[in-house]
Amino acid sequence: MQRIFSGVQPTGNLHLGNYLGAIRNWVHLQHDYECIFCMVDMHAITLWQDPKDLLHNTREVAAGMIAAGIDAEKQILFNQSMVPAHAQLAWVFNCVARIGWLNRMTQFKDKAGKHKENASVGLYAYPNLMSADILIYKATHVPVGEDQKQHLELARDTAQKFNSDYGVDFFPLPEPLIFGAARRVMSFRDGTKKMSKSDESDYSRINMTDDADTIALKIRKAKTDPLPLPETIEGLTERPEADNLVGIFAALSDLEKAAVLERFAGKPFSEFKQDLTDLAVSVLGPINSEMKRLMADPSHIDAVLHRGAERANAIAEPILKDVYDIVGFLRP
Ligand code: ATP
Ligand code: MG
Repeated sequence: MQRIFSGVQPTGNLHLGNYLGAIRNWVHLQHDYECIFCMVDMHAITLWQDPKDLLHNTREVAAGMIAAGIDAEKQILFNQSMVPAHAQLAWVFNCVARIGWLNRMTQFKDKAGKHKENASVGLYAYPNLMSADILIYKATHVPVGEDQKQHLELARDTAQKFNSDYGVDFFPLPEPLIFGAARRVMSFRDGTKKMSKSDESDYSRINMTDDADTIALKIRKAKTDPLPLPETIEGLTERPEADNLVGIFAALSDLEKAAVLERFAGKPFSEFKQDLTDLAVSVLGPINSEMKRLMADPSHIDAVLHRGAERANAIAEPILKDVYDIVGFLRP
């Protein structure tokens, strides 16, 4: 069976973009692939995280994944720092990947802000750790949102360079799996920016922990333009906020965007937003209550993650040993 690796940063609340662009797809994929799902806490600290929040978010993101339908008995679910081989392979990749490759990564540019010299070295080297996350399991497929496509290409380049530098056919070249109607859910405040956990404004996103009133308020306040909804998809060009909300409606209801427009063409946003609210609440409400139930006693989540880490270690350790032999490290 082919193997999937995918990760989420415990940097804050899971949001609608994570759900539609990632987690919901993973729930479907788990029937056809062996899946490894990771709370990437080591990625999270590339930007400052309050330790108490990091711990809480690690558990909450795991709860969100289980609540959304990831089968933690069948699949491997764990937090990255419990499996040392991620960091160990990342160091090797720091010596394989080139500075020029990392310089092209747009996420670094977005996240580092204006003063790049003040960004952490970890934020810069982030893609090498991500390559290690995937390749330490020799994963063949990586389901991600569109924002991670560039990092995945770098992982492929790194795998290929490692293989050719050492004259081995060791790492598979992982394939991205990018699908679903919501590959890139945009911010509610700016239709040209992606919805993110790390966006300062809570009104930019719907969190999976938001209750019905909060969801309603955020959708009501979501930026739109003064025009009514258009009749065709072409009518959404250069209307990023409208396009985003229609895309979200389509993804949540498993419809094509065209079908959504057929229903709402010519109607004002207020009416569309009311229906979108009802839809979002009906999809997210049950996940939200299950998350709350799981978080009431985190010992269950902790046990799941611990067990997952043991299983992940069992796969990763022998692969790391092979890498060390290939590189020429003396081992006990
Ligand atoms: P951060 O702002 O801390 O980077 P994030 O919101 O980007 O958080 P990640 O943990 O980096 O979330 O990504 C988890 C998964 O969710 C990845 O597979 C990523 O591609 C996907 N994802 C993140 N944001 C979106 C979005 N706006 N639309 C679709 N998919 C997304
Ligand atoms: Mg991200």
